[in-house]
Amino acid sequence: MSTPAVAPAETSPYAAFSFWLETCGDDLTPRPALDGSTDVDVAILGGGYTGLWTAYYLLKSQPSLRVAVVERRIAGFGASGRNGGWCSSKLNIGLDAVAGMYGRDKALAMQRALYDTVDEIGRVCSAERLDAGFAKVGALFVARFPYQIALMREYAGMFERFGLGAHQRLLDAAETEGRVRVRGALGAWYCPQYGRVHPGRLARGLARAVERLGGTIYEETEVIDFAPGARPSLRTARGDVRARAIVLAGEAYLTRLRALRRCLLPVYSLIVLTEPLGASRWNEIGWQGQECLASFRISIDYLTRTDDGRILFGGRGAPYRFGSAIADAYDRDAPTHEMLRRLARGWFPSLEGARFTHAWGGPLGMPRDWMPTVHYDRESGVATARGYTGHGVSASNLAGRALADLLLGRATPLTELPIVGHRPPPWEPEPLRYLGVRYVQRAFARMDEEGERTGRAPSGRSLAERLSRH
Ligand SMILES: Cc1cc2nc3c(=O)[nH]c(=O)nc-3n(C[C@H](O)[C@H](O)[C@H](O)COP(=O)(O)OP(=O)(O)OC[C@H]3O[C@@H](n4cnc5c(N)ncnc54)[C@H](O)[C@@H]3O)c2cc1C
Repeated sequence: MSTPAVAPAETSPYAAFSFWLETCGDDLTPRPALDGSTDVDVAILGGGYTGLWTAYYLLKSQPSLRVAVVERRIAGFGASGRNGGWCSSKLNIGLDAVAGMYGRDKALAMQRALYDTVDEIGRVCSAERLDAGFAKVGALFVARFPYQIALMREYAGMFERFGLGAHQRLLDAAETEGRVRVRGALGAWYCPQYGRVHPGRLARGLARAVERLGGTIYEETEVIDFAPGARPSLRTARGDVRARAIVLAGEAYLTRLRALRRCLLPVYSLIVLTEPLGASRWNEIGWQGQECLASFRISIDYLTRTDDGRILFGGRGAPYRFGSAIADAYDRDAPTHEMLRRLARGWFPSLEGARFTHAWGGPLGMPRDWMPTVHYDRESGVATARGYTGHGVSASNLAGRALADLLLGRATPLTELPIVGHRPPPWEPEPLRYLGVRYVQRAFARMDEEGERTGRAPSGRSLAERLSRH
């Protein structure tokens, strides 16, 4: 492993979970665990972005509230401390699909709220001095093969149809090359409304901001169950946290709780990271704007240029595990990590001979209909926000603000968003789930291979594409 940019986290076992935790700027010493039952106003399961943003906005609105976050490992241990660092103004579900469920106006409101969210994260980072490396860098989705041109035009067409053309631009091959020299790039979709953060610093900084506002974070304390009711509670082996409302903000890990086993599908996203690259390689690659970078590959890729001059290359493709199993051992999958290194060299031939210093991954939570949900049931006292798939860095902030409004009984434009109150159907029971998900994973990879070979985009009507939606 390389020398961390900012001291001494590498001595903690938690540093091994991602480069971002390793370089987050604190020593990752766990906060005290819960020590006996306690009473608060709001008890939150999960110290990721969702739990922390919810706590942050609650305390900002009502400083006298007693808010407790209960975290199984440490704040930022989950996807929030491991992701690609994209602050995206996108959900996993397209505007068309949202409009199909909730109408055009709601879909538009959702998209506008996501654009605003990128700025909101930048605003809080600077107001709270979070030192999270926020930069509004925009995003470039590159079409690298002829079949991806069709997918790119279709994507841009969707924004045009919603009157959002001003938020995007299609770049031809030469314009794309002016920004970043990617092998085979035929053009790109550009959107300025994307940001980039250091995920570990955001999660850890946010946790400290919550504490400054008076919140309490219990670490290394696992919630083993929850009880709804007039006085709902989070149950742990070290005592219960009783509250007026509880918030379940554990994303993929929620599926470990009996009542929520089928609410999400844990999907592993994996990442490889190069050493800091020298000037000659950067001269060849360009990418001075440090935009969030991806292609229109169906099986998902995402790239980030780090502040210390590395390339992060992430993608899905690690196999789904029977029974939605999650384990630290699954964070590393040798064949998938090797595939990602190969793909990275395919993008940038100058990476030949460069060292890859880090490889990690983690589970994200995918709902059955691809649409996240934010929900508070006053009667049971149970609230949740979850199901962002690979787009939770921004969406969790939006969800946290909406949850705070719901919990405080405020009707606002955020509580009118279509994700609020949305109830995705459950995933199929096993073994159907395993068979279906593995089939779709393989079919998506095959579609990319076939598209590269034939130049034709998939029809959108294949069994795998239909299975992967509803
Ligand atoms: C490798 C990877 C790359 C990604 N890249 C991006 C990206 O570039 N941009 C983007 O927008 N999104 C990305 N995502 C998704 C994004 O990181 C997540 O959507 C987001 O972090 C979700 O935040 P969260 O707080 O809801 O969940 P998490 O960050 O997973 O936090 C949940 C927390 O709850 C805790 N917990 C769970 N169960 C319990 C329990 N029973 N008791 C106590 N605590 C519990 C966990 O330990 C964890 O800390 C990526 C995800 C991964 C895995």
